[in-house]
Amino acid sequence: MGLVVQKFGGTSVADTDKIKNVADAVIKEKNNGNDVIVVVSAMGHTTDNLLKLANEITKNASPREMDMLLSTGEQISMSLLAMAIQEKGHKAISLTGSQVGIKTENCHMCARIVDIETKKVEKLLSEGNIIIVAGFQGVCEDNEITTLGRGGSDTTAVALACAFNADRCDIYSDVEGVYTADPRVVKTARKLDVISYEEMLELARVGANVLHPRSVETAKLRNMPMRVRSSFKLDNLGTLIIGVDDMEMIKPVTGLACDTSQVRIVICDIEDRPGNAAKLFNLLASQNLSVDMIIQSYARHSQNTNDIAFTISKSDVDKFNAITDKINEILNASKIHMDEDIVKVSIVGAGMIDRPGIAAKMFDTLAKKHINIKMISTSEIKISCLVEKQYSDLAAQVLCEAFELDGAKVADVKGDLPS
Ligand code: ADP
Ligand code: ASP
Ligand code: MG
Repeated sequence: MGLVVQKFGGTSVADTDKIKNVADAVIKEKNNGNDVIVVVSAMGHTTDNLLKLANEITKNASPREMDMLLSTGEQISMSLLAMAIQEKGHKAISLTGSQVGIKTENCHMCARIVDIETKKVEKLLSEGNIIIVAGFQGVCEDNEITTLGRGGSDTTAVALACAFNADRCDIYSDVEGVYTADPRVVKTARKLDVISYEEMLELARVGANVLHPRSVETAKLRNMPMRVRSSFKLDNLGTLIIGVDDMEMIKPVTGLACDTSQVRIVICDIEDRPGNAAKLFNLLASQNLSVDMIIQSYARHSQNTNDIAFTISKSDVDKFNAITDKINEILNASKIHMDEDIVKVSIVGAGMIDRPGIAAKMFDTLAKKHINIKMISTSEIKISCLVEKQYSDLAAQVLCEAFELDGAKVADVKGDLPS
């Protein structure tokens, strides 16, 4: 008998009819002869609605209370799913992260899982139960409830799959798999049958929110086979995510993603001498501000100054604004400029390693549409360009065509498609 971990996202459990469908999918897996651990997200937009409620009370909620609030969403869906499975005549039990023994670091709203206790779940499985676990939550050393960051149920699922040596981890969502681009934006994006952990990790990090980046990171570490598949078309196998060594590389670029969650900041006319960049980034780090792209301009020798530009998350703008006086004080900059209307467009592909001309082709494709590039960053398997936000969809479409990422069939996506 094998063990399968299944994870169902918010759209898949958005109402009670959908929960009943999920119950059928779970029972089908159990009837295949497998033990099943199921991870659920909160129903539909529950987490967003909980955030709105908190926001109506305060703009400064303590992270502890936010975790108390946000962790309730998954508890609703887990218990309803357990009831739906029981109603269909099977044994099921729902458990919170804390009841399972999902131990996390001592940190609220973005905690990492450090350990998972297996005894209790093993016993419940041996008694014939289907286990339903609330995703996105755990408990830290001093018994406080923690959450893993938005989209974190994917990571709960993979971490459980690794802890219980599952045969595979299936992530059910409202798309048929991982596409070459977000199928809601690029209607002709092509579904991938297979993608490497490395590429999926880069895509998730640069904005393909179909998977929580840490879920892919965890699967890669333990070589856990993962599938992204549709909860509305259960027979489709979706996309398999496996190690790059097992793949045959054909195209230099596998997929692309757009990220509108960042802002660009430019600190102008910083004196060009050793230590200034360190002062700036130490100050940002001391405020827990993470920085993504960084560019330092060529020094203007006549003035002995240069500019440093970088991007941070929109959600950190208030934290940044609180330290602008300090930045001016330590760097004596002439101006601090913030640009919110930007999007980071990235192409990703393990096949671009050692293949010249990919960056040139990306820049050329954007230039032909008169899209100006404000910043560029690269890794071994990724090239990102920061452009004006108004060009987000156009850039995604023309890059899809240029790198042959589109397919003949228009993607089939359930849920609220933009018209
Ligand atoms: P769930 O609630 O099931 O966790 P998410 O909303 O987190 O679902 O993720 C699914 C969404 O990810 C899709 O509806 C799709 O719009 C988006 N997405 C972004 N990039 C991609 C991609 N490359 N392939 C598939 N879906 C993508
Ligand atoms: N419910 C949480 C969220 O909306 C976690 C998840 O869905 O994975 O971010
Ligand atoms: Mg998700």
